[in-house]
Amino acid sequence: MNIRSIATRLAGGLAAVLLSLPVSLPGAQAQGRFPDRTITIIVPFAAGGPTDVVARQLGEAMGRDLGVSVVSENVTGAGGTIGGQRVAQARSDGYTLLLGNIGVATAPSLYRNLPYDVLKSFDTVGLITPVPMTLVARPNIPAANLPELVAWLKRPGAEVNIGHAGLGSASHLCATLLRSLLQTPMTPIAFRGTAPIMTELMAGRLDLTCDQTTNTVPYIQDNRVRAFATTTDQRLAALPNLPTAAEGGLPGLTVTVWHGFYVPAGTPRPVIDRLSQALRTALADEKVVTRFAELATTPEPADRATPEAHRALLEAEVARWRPIIQSAGEYAD
Ligand code: ASP
Repeated sequence: MNIRSIATRLAGGLAAVLLSLPVSLPGAQAQGRFPDRTITIIVPFAAGGPTDVVARQLGEAMGRDLGVSVVSENVTGAGGTIGGQRVAQARSDGYTLLLGNIGVATAPSLYRNLPYDVLKSFDTVGLITPVPMTLVARPNIPAANLPELVAWLKRPGAEVNIGHAGLGSASHLCATLLRSLLQTPMTPIAFRGTAPIMTELMAGRLDLTCDQTTNTVPYIQDNRVRAFATTTDQRLAALPNLPTAAEGGLPGLTVTVWHGFYVPAGTPRPVIDRLSQALRTALADEKVVTRFAELATTPEPADRATPEAHRALLEAEVARWRPIIQSAGEYAD
């Protein structure tokens, strides 16, 4: 064996050894065997609320597909932007996801000092579910239906408060829409999510809120809060007796809350694709489909649970909300 062939054999052996070692570069490792540990979904609102419920349902199903645990962590405050910041600053390795709702698209216009750029700081994974909202009140509110509620809200000298989950959150947008449709003042009160709002409503300490069905359906079904309308064009199968806002005389109160998963920008594409695949699998999971139906919502179809469809909607929504918020001239900071 000459020196040359020894060198070649050594090099070959070395290559074989290198190939069998775990790859330790962060990016390459993520691509090579992603995922190999727990994935965390950052829920930017309170535990037990509508976003949290969606995250927990999906986390379980995605975990089954990915073969690792997918857990939720509630990082609350400032209309969801504290949680957004956490994910924007996380490692781009696919182990930290943000479950954001429509508020992700309003934040750049509302928060002039937002510490991240929604369009540049995140990569999109896919859309999750378009959730209807419901207008609900404390159980002892002196109104039996929407026209009576409107009359009560507009009565001279009325002092009414309406809870929301922070500026730019879905409940804030819905409350703002309601106030502008009725042209009547109401005092908005901010919470870290709409789960604590339900407690306040049940205790009679708060008058009103507008919240996603993924939170409100069980409360409405048990008469723990009083429901007045859905924000959808059609009645909801899970709440067949609840009229739409249009049926109750408020056709302009239409809101649907889209949700999507985000990862920090720069996450390797194969990692995003794996997460997106797990999302689509979870959205087709029988348990998820059934629970979503019970909560009056539907999984996004597979062609919308993709990074591209999600990106297109995000860009369109950021552009749609900017002039609306700018002309209202109300900023969060
Ligand atoms: N329903 C909230 C919102 O208004 C979010 C939450 O509490 O999950 O966006």
